[in-house]
Amino acid sequence: MAKNGFTTTILHSDRRSTVEHGAIHKPMHPSSQYAFADARELVAVFQGKPGFTYARQGTPTTSALESKITQMEGGAGTVTFATGMAALAATFFTLLKAGDHLISSQHIFGNTNSLVGTLVGLGVEVTLVDATNVQNVIDAWRPETRMVFTETLANPGTQVADLMAIGDWCKEKGLVYVVDNTLVTPWLCQGIGMGASLVINSLSKHIGGHGNALGGAVTDSGLYDWSGYDNIAEPYRSGKPTSWGLTQIKKKGLRDMGGTLSSEAAHRISVGAETLALRMDRACSNALALAHFLSEHPKVAKIHYPGLADHPQHERAAGFFGNRFGALMGIELVDEVDLFDFLNRLKVLILATHLGDNRTLVLPMAHTIYYEMGAERRALMGISDNFLRVSIGIEDTQDLIDDFVQALE
Ligand SMILES: *Cc1c(COP(=O)(O)O)cnc(C)c1O
Repeated sequence: MAKNGFTTTILHSDRRSTVEHGAIHKPMHPSSQYAFADARELVAVFQGKPGFTYARQGTPTTSALESKITQMEGGAGTVTFATGMAALAATFFTLLKAGDHLISSQHIFGNTNSLVGTLVGLGVEVTLVDATNVQNVIDAWRPETRMVFTETLANPGTQVADLMAIGDWCKEKGLVYVVDNTLVTPWLCQGIGMGASLVINSLSKHIGGHGNALGGAVTDSGLYDWSGYDNIAEPYRSGKPTSWGLTQIKKKGLRDMGGTLSSEAAHRISVGAETLALRMDRACSNALALAHFLSEHPKVAKIHYPGLADHPQHERAAGFFGNRFGALMGIELVDEVDLFDFLNRLKVLILATHLGDNRTLVLPMAHTIYYEMGAERRALMGISDNFLRVSIGIEDTQDLIDDFVQALE
C-alpha cells in the first residue's frame, strides 16, 4: 500500500493497530497495573520485551499516542510525558551528568531557560549561544561537550536557528543534537530532517491544540549511534545502538522522575492531533495576515514574525518550514500606548499564558514568564519591556484584525 499522507496516517493510526472491538480510537486504559498469566512473560517484559507492567512506565493509550507522534516526526520511537517540561527534564537528566558540557541556544522558552539553570546547579556546564549562526555553536565546543540544544522556532522571539548546519556539525562531532519542535510542529518541519538525534514536542500546544490537556514527547530519530555515548547505563546497552538513548529516557526518565502522561490526557491529545495539519495551516495564515496588517499600523513599533520579509531569518524559515511561518508572534507597541490599558481593551484575544491553542492568546513577557530571570538575561534573549507574545488561533481573520484595531485606538 502506498504510504499515506500526514493527516490520513494520524486519523487511521489507532484502527490499524490492534484495537478492541474495532474501535476507531484506542480506548482509555485507566488501569495502573497489568497482570500476567505466565511468570516467564512477566519477567520478559521487565527485561525489555514490549509490554505493560505498571502505568508509570506507560499504558496502551499512551503507547498509541507515541506511535502517532513517531509517524508525524518520521522517527524511530517516542516516549510521552506529563508535560513538555517533563519530556525536556527527562532528556537532560537521564543523558547528562556533572562535568558534561551542553551548548544551548540562548533563544529558548523561559521555563527551559530555568531548567538549564537547574542543570548548571547540578554541575553540568552550559554555554548559551546565538544559534542563528552555526559558527557560534562551533566556537563553544569543548572536549566535554556532549549535547547541543535548540528550538526549531524560538519561543517567544521567533528566531530560527541554523538548524541544518548545526545538525551536520553535530554529526561530524558525534554530539547528541536535541531540538524542541513545539512551535513549528512536525506538520511544518520534521526535526529529524534537520539532523536531530532527539525531537521534543510539548503536546500541550498545537498537537493537542484545544487547551484541555497537558503532555510532552521525546522522539528518537534513529540517527544517533549511542554506542559511543558514555552516559548510557549498562542495562540499556543492548539491542540496536541507535535505540539506547530513548530506552534510557523511557526507563530512567519515567521511573526516576515519574512525569507520566495519563491515559485521559493521551486520549484527548490523540483526538486533537487528528486535525493538527488543518488547524496549523489556518493559524499560520491568520498569523501572516495579522503580521502584514500590524506591521503597517502606526501604533506598532515592531513585529517579530518569520513570515515578514524583514525578519532576520525569513528566507531560512521559508525553506525549512515550507513557506509557512508558525502561529507565534512578538509584538512591540509604540511607547505612547499603555501596554496594560491596551491589553484590557481586547475582546477576542484572551489574556492568558499558553500557546498553540485554537484561540488567540496574548501575554506580556517581561512581566510574567521572563520576570524572574531579571533584565540582563531578558536583554540577551531579546525581550524588551514592551514585548507581547501573541499565539494566533483559528478564529476568523477579520475578527482578530478588528480586535487589534479597536484596542489600539
Ligand atoms: C510550552 C513549551 C514547552 C513546555 O511544555 P509544557 O507542556 O507546557 O510543559 C517547551 N518548549 C516550548 C518551546 C514551549 O513552548
